[in-house]
Amino acid sequence: MGCDFIARATPGVQGLQPYVPGKPAQELERELGLTDIIKLASNENPLGPSPVALAAAQQALAELHLYPDASGYRLKQALQQHYGLSPDCITLGNGSNDVLELIARAFLRPGDEVVYSQYAFLVYPIITQASSATAVVTEARDWGHDLDAMLAAVTERTRLVFIANPNNPTGTWLSRAQLCAFMDALPVSVVLVLDEAYTEYSEDPDFPDGLELLARYPNLVVTRTFSKAWGLAGLRVGFAAANREITDLLNRVRQPFNVSGPALAAAEAVLQDRAYLARTLETNRAGMRQLIDGLKRLGLAVIPSAGNFVCVGLGRPAGPVYQQLLERGVIVRPVANYQMPDHLRISIGLLAQNLRCLQVLEEVLSA
Ligand SMILES: *Cc1c(COP(=O)(O)O)cnc(C)c1O
Repeated sequence: MGCDFIARATPGVQGLQPYVPGKPAQELERELGLTDIIKLASNENPLGPSPVALAAAQQALAELHLYPDASGYRLKQALQQHYGLSPDCITLGNGSNDVLELIARAFLRPGDEVVYSQYAFLVYPIITQASSATAVVTEARDWGHDLDAMLAAVTERTRLVFIANPNNPTGTWLSRAQLCAFMDALPVSVVLVLDEAYTEYSEDPDFPDGLELLARYPNLVVTRTFSKAWGLAGLRVGFAAANREITDLLNRVRQPFNVSGPALAAAEAVLQDRAYLARTLETNRAGMRQLIDGLKRLGLAVIPSAGNFVCVGLGRPAGPVYQQLLERGVIVRPVANYQMPDHLRISIGLLAQNLRCLQVLEEVLSA
């Protein structure tokens, strides 16, 4: 080709490993000719979309020839109603991964440091590396974040700290008291990105609401998504909430039409569908109990989770088990790329799906 394009890429991108998503059911169908596949690999809502959201998206299809509202006015109004957030504190994203990237783009220069924990969500290392910034990864404690270690890792070069609460893939979470003690000690010049992708699922009364903490901490950015409890992963909508100044910065780097018309309409509508959210949480509660009981009966170690998934230790390499589950039409998530080679992450599905997953897992483990 006459040119070494890899050498011309930025140093960050040269060393980048792309994110590996959960295996799509259609891909497994093509590869193995299987039908009746269940996918418990991407923490998607097993109920399917809310009928209210579906109707709103369908109605929005009539305007596919038009650019969407670049300001997302109506969705921001709905978010204000629902969460009490001022529209000028909201940045809309094409999924919350999009806003995570906007944050990196707005704040990170080569050589800046970013602190996050071992076993943290893989998007943080990717956007850190893509910005040619330096990752400072602290050791986990009981699979969760060690906030003392994270604080100790902060230097004058630290620009961002990433914390997912609850964390993916481990499901571990921080209490309000732990998080506030951390924020109280964090220099105000360091921005904490609190990724609350699974916050709706938490049932711990001491679980913090990041949106409530925004007034207290000017250096806090909270990210939320419509992909999980709200059941709109396929449409790609999420948002960041932060003070006006940070929000202004994020909107400077945001592409004007980053959220599609049907996505804006569906997200706005689904916020009104309380019954769907209630059904989602009830399904998750029952499924979580069922999966944890079943996994424990198999003698497996389950990490306590506040999300819509559980991470289970098999006490042996999980790769071959994952493969044998695939061959039997059950897709779960290997987490070896998180340095957890003996674990699998299983999303909570419908009762029949969880049951089949447990049965097939038992079959594979006892073979
Ligand atoms: C699923 C997930 C997200 C959400 O991604 P979207 O881009 O909003 O679909 C964000 N953070 C974590 C930790 C997640 O697991």
